[in-house]
Order: sequence, then C-alpha cells, then structure tokens
Amino acid sequence: MKRRGGIQIMGKLIGLIRPLLHVMAVAVLLGVAGYLCAIFLTVMAGAGILNVMGLWKFGSLTAIFVCLVAAAVLRGILHYGEQACNHYIAFKLLALIRHQVFAVLRKLCPAKLDGKDKGNLISIITSDIELLEVFYAHTISPIVIAVLTSLIMEIFFFKYHILIGAFALLGYLAIGVLVPVWNSKRGSDKGMEFRTKFGDLNSFVLDSLRGLDETIQYGCGEKREKQMSKKSCELDEKQKYMKKLEGTQRGVTNVLILIFSFGMLFLSTWLYQMGQMDFQGVLLCTILMMSSFGPVVALSSLSNNLMQTLASGERVLALLEEEPRIEEVENQPEAQFDSITCENLDFAYEEEQILKNYSISISKGSRIGIHGKSGSGKSTLLKLLMRFYDVDGGKIQIGDREIKTVNTRELRNMESYVTQETCLFHDSIANNIAVAKLGASREEVEEAAKKASLHDFIMSLPQGYDTPVGELGDTLSGGEKQRIGLARAFLHDAPLLLLDEPTSNLDSLNESIILHSLKEKCGDKTVILVSHRESTMAATQKVYQMDNGRIS
Ligand code: ATP
Ligand code: MG
Repeated sequence: MKRRGGIQIMGKLIGLIRPLLHVMAVAVLLGVAGYLCAIFLTVMAGAGILNVMGLWKFGSLTAIFVCLVAAAVLRGILHYGEQACNHYIAFKLLALIRHQVFAVLRKLCPAKLDGKDKGNLISIITSDIELLEVFYAHTISPIVIAVLTSLIMEIFFFKYHILIGAFALLGYLAIGVLVPVWNSKRGSDKGMEFRTKFGDLNSFVLDSLRGLDETIQYGCGEKREKQMSKKSCELDEKQKYMKKLEGTQRGVTNVLILIFSFGMLFLSTWLYQMGQMDFQGVLLCTILMMSSFGPVVALSSLSNNLMQTLASGERVLALLEEEPRIEEVENQPEAQFDSITCENLDFAYEEEQILKNYSISISKGSRIGIHGKSGSGKSTLLKLLMRFYDVDGGKIQIGDREIKTVNTRELRNMESYVTQETCLFHDSIANNIAVAKLGASREEVEEAAKKASLHDFIMSLPQGYDTPVGELGDTLSGGEKQRIGLARAFLHDAPLLLLDEPTSNLDSLNESIILHSLKEKCGDKTVILVSHRESTMAATQKVYQMDNGRIS
C-alpha cells in the first residue's frame, strides 16, 4: 500500500470539516481567549507580588485580587466552551465518517468480505474511527490556537524590543514546531506498525473465538495461546517504544521551556543594563515568556498521539478510497429476466485462474444441475452470476443484455442465491426468514417455511416463529440453518434460483419435500442447482459436469 505523508492525511481529514467551520472558528476564539486569560492570571499574580514588595506600583491589592478571581473563573468558562465546540465537531464528524465507511463497505462487499481481512476491517470500523476523535477534538484547534496566541504574544514582545521578540519567536518555534516534527519523524512508522499489529491481533482473536471447538478438539489450545501472547508481546513492545518516545519528547520540551524562560530573564536583564529596557519590562517579559508556553506545549505533545491518529486516519482514508471490484450499475433501462448465456468466461480471484474459457447456456424456465469436484469453481460460477465479481474475460448475458449493464438492484431482485453456508442474524426465526423480502407478512413467511420443509419444526418450538436464533445461528442444527436459507429463497420469489448445495445437510425426507417444492411450486422458475448428491440431481432436467472451470 502506498502511504501518504502526515500533511496529506491531515489535509484530507481537515477537508471533511468544511460544513462545521463556523463551530471550529468559535472553538479557536474561545481557546485563544482562554489562554490569554491564563497568561493574564500569571501576570496579575506577578504584579501582585511586586506590588507587595513595592517594586511595581500597579493599582490596589484588592483590584488585583478581583481581577485574578475574574480571570480564573473566565478561564474555566472559556476552556469549557472550547472543549464543548471541539467535541461537538468531533462527534458529528465521526458519525459522518461512519456513514461514509458503511456506504463504502456496501460497495466493496461482498468481494471485500470474501477476502481474508475481517478482523482488520473490524478494527478500522471500531477503534480507528474512534481514534480520529483525538484529531478532530484535540488536534486542529490547538494548532490554530497556538499560532494565534503566540502571534499576539509576539506583537507584545516585539513592541518591547526586537531582540526580545526574536528570542520569544525562537522559543515558540523550537517547542511548537521543531520538537513535534522531530518527534513524529522518529515515530511515524511505529504508529502505523502499531495500528497494523493491533488489527492483526483483532483478526487472530476473532479467528480463535470462531474456531474454539476445533482448538479444543485437536488440543491446539496451548499453541494458539502462545501465538496470542507472542502477538500481545509484540504489540506491547511497540507501545513501550512509543511511550519511550513520549517520555523523551516531554523531557526535551521541559528543558527547552526552562532554557527559554531563563534565557528571557538574562536577555532582558542585559538589555536593562544596556539601558534599552526599563525594570518593569524585565519583569513583565520574563513572566510573560514563562506563562505563555501553554499553547505550544499542547502542540509539542500532540505529536505523540498524532502518530497513531494519523495512522488510523490513513487506514480509514484508504478504506474510503478503495476501489470496489465491481461498480454498482444504476440508471440503465429496465431489464427482463431471460435465458442466461456464459461465453468463454475467464476468472481469477487473485493469481490462480479458477475459470478458463468456460461456457454454458441456461434457457429460461429450465432446471439444471452442476456437478463437479470440490474446488472446481461451482460456487464461483454462482457468484459471477450474482455479479459479486466481474469476469476477467468473456461475458455473461441475460437475454441480450450483458450482466454488467443490468441495474444492480434489478439483478439482485432477479436472483435468489442460497449459499453453502447460511448466515443467521441474532433475531427471531420469522425475522431471519423475512430478510429476503422487505415487509413480508407472517403468512408469506409461513408459506416459504412450508416450501422449505421448515414449518413443522418451527411450530414444535415453544415460541414458534418468534423463537430467537442464537448468535450466528449456533442454536440450530446444520440442516435447520440450511432450510432457513431455502425459505429465504422461496420468500424472495425471484425468477432465477441459484442453489449451492442446498441439501447437503438434510435427511432424505426433508430433501424430498424440498425437491418437490422446487419442481411443483417453482415450475416457471429457472433453477441452477449445485450438488454432489445424486438424489438431488434427480430433480434437475440436465446435469452439467464441471471440471476445473470447463464444462464437459
Ligand atoms: P466445493 O464443491 O468444495 O464447494 P466449488 O467448486 O464450489 O467447491 P469454489 O468455491 O468455486 O469451488 O472455489 C474454486 C477455487 O477458488 C478454490 O480453489 C478456492 O480455493 C478458490 N477461492 C474461492 N473463493 C476464493 C476467494 N474469495 N479468494 C481466493 N480464492 C478463492
Ligand atoms: Mg462450492
């Protein structure tokens, strides 16, 4: 993956703020006013002490005290206001980014989820997006606030003396620019490595949870545990390294603050001795210098989180910009379902060619079977007919329309696809069937369940159709899940049924009920049935043999 520079990532992320710029402006104003209040507080405190010592007559002590209290209260209010604005922006934007990510995922799937990277995807959707809160709430406005506050201070310093102004500028630049740039140079790769390793660990944990039964059965618990702790240790090492960077950064910043504060004291004293400044100037400039590092220190420590935040930003942006393997089709003339012809199809998921020069034609209303060795590409052919992927060579046509020119929504309505593994949602059985048709009535759901030989089983459950299905359908048997998949296909009521091993987990009684439904109740539908079972193939009119992507 080509990586963008930090500035580019920031630019892209800031681009998203445009609609909320006015809130950001308020946040910056409140932030600058807040810092000025804080600086004013120190100056007033200093003035109070000098007043008592009789070194600087500066109004009455009571007036100074009232000013101090007022500034302190105001500082709190301003800070609260700034944080409220920033968090308003951050959470609005996180919601917006989540929307965008889900919209992109809809375009990228199912090909994206067919791939290997689910755990990584989960960490992008959850923790990476979450981390962007730091960027929006605690990064952009501090930068602007630091620049503006330092500018205001500079005007004051330069008015006193050009050397004082130049020295203060050097201090601000060293802490607010040099330290963060140096720090992020040291650690930017580590930030990305940390986020990637975090994603890896997520994938591994997800995998381990799914494969718990197998792990116990084959006694690999210890091995997996070792692998998991190795991954955790690696992550820990990375984190330790980053904490170390953070430590040195804080140390260097504090040393610089001391150097520049005392430097200012020496410089102004020298200027006083040369007769170029009065005594109050010495005191005021030194106090101001000491108390005005706040905004640039905020910048300096930004770079610690920034490495990770930008790495997260990069991962989110990369996902947002990922090109889908297929483009959704819209606004094309309406298409009617007709016979299907596949001409000289070539297809590869990655390098390995799965279909080579593969042709088949299926006339409308026919019921055909596809039989072949495991891994020969039967499921792949069904996915191509669903247009989950585009073919690399050759073409698929519905009637005289190429599949690539049929509106995606129409195509999905034309086809019911029962996959080899039915995925169930953590919901009632009725709702699990009803996903196949928006707003399906209970009667329609029951009708579909009857066709899929599922009705009697459901009625035997204590809560009938309202029985909840456990997560991933774990409370149902393989055959029951399969029949829910079939019930969905019957409910969807599309002219083309693509059935991938629909009977592999069924006993012969259930199988015959389903084949009967297919033959008698779906008479006018086109059915493509993939199966290894002879008895299932008997329900078809013609069986094609598939051998490594070639029909024989
Ligand atoms: P079975 O009878 O076992 O279901 P099949 O004929 O349906 O086999 P396919 O699922 O079409 O076989 O797979 C064909 C080949 O493509 C296999 O070698 C498989 O490993 C590979 N394959 C399937 N899906 C992917 C994917 N998403 N990415 C990469 N390779 C894949
Ligand atoms: Mg298959």
